[in-house]
Amino acid sequence: MKPVAFDYERPASLEDAIALLSGAGARVLAGGQSLGPMLNLRLAQPELLVDITYIPELKTAERQGDGLWLGACVTHAEIEDGAVPDVTNGALAFVAGGIAYRAVRNRGTVGGSLAHADPAADWVTCLSALGADAVIAGPSGERRVPVSEFLSGAFETALEVGEILRGVWIPTLSSAASWGYYKFCRKAGDFAEAIGAVLQDPERGIVRTVLGATNARPIVIDGAYGDESVRASIDSQGGDMDAYDRQVHFVTAKRAAMIAGVRVA
Ligand SMILES: Cc1cc2nc3c(=O)[nH]c(=O)nc-3n(C[C@H](O)[C@H](O)[C@H](O)COP(=O)(O)OP(=O)(O)OC[C@H]3O[C@@H](n4cnc5c(N)ncnc54)[C@H](O)[C@@H]3O)c2cc1C
Repeated sequence: MKPVAFDYERPASLEDAIALLSGAGARVLAGGQSLGPMLNLRLAQPELLVDITYIPELKTAERQGDGLWLGACVTHAEIEDGAVPDVTNGALAFVAGGIAYRAVRNRGTVGGSLAHADPAADWVTCLSALGADAVIAGPSGERRVPVSEFLSGAFETALEVGEILRGVWIPTLSSAASWGYYKFCRKAGDFAEAIGAVLQDPERGIVRTVLGATNARPIVIDGAYGDESVRASIDSQGGDMDAYDRQVHFVTAKRAAMIAGVRVA
């Protein structure tokens, strides 16, 4: 199948992109790795595609305050290749390298991944564990939402009509920080059946466990890792997970904790 006919615009500034998105039937195009198939299957039938990948500020990656600013259109491959400053002791590059395969990583973007809001995608879980904020721009200005709250459900986000995810801000880890990321999938590069992400940053007093590839937004557990608290969180927030899913998520989180060097009980 082929897409329905649509118009295409390539704005050079964020302001122009936001203005174009105010029209009915307009939709953002980033790397096209998820939107492309949706267009071809006619699951998406926009009247106008607004290609944001030529907006310079959305391609920037730089240290900002005590953290890293990552524009929405930075690609997975750029992160994998170390083209962005490393404030996470290697976590971002490691996670990027496990996304799909190189052709997808060359075009797929951080912003597109978050905005597409597939609960099984990697960035939403990784960035929730790192305590990142999503920065959203729209006709009425800019606002910040923790990435852990950016998904309102599967394939649903905090973005309002006409808004663009401008980028993410990621706090710098201390040199003593350790992390573990464990992705359970059938073969390398697949979407995950379960993801565990654990961050331990003693200098900032943070221990955080995140369970991803749930049926909705990731499950975030702040405080010391404990088998019982992980199981209790899966029971209370795991939605309609069956017994197999619950066990896979539990084991995945535990492996991430062991990789992070967190004491597991
Ligand atoms: C074969 C295959 C395997 C994959 N495997 C994995 C995997 O293992 N792990 C993983 O995490 N991902 C995986 N992906 C997803 C991929 O990593 C892309 O990140 C993802 O498809 C979307 O990014 P994109 O830049 O291509 O966005 P697009 O496809 O261009 O857009 C996706 C959606 O987000 C919207 N959008 C895009 N950017 C913005 C923005 N800045 N503001 C507001 N809305 C926006 C679009 O309107 C659209 O609705 C896979 C994809 C494919 C095709």
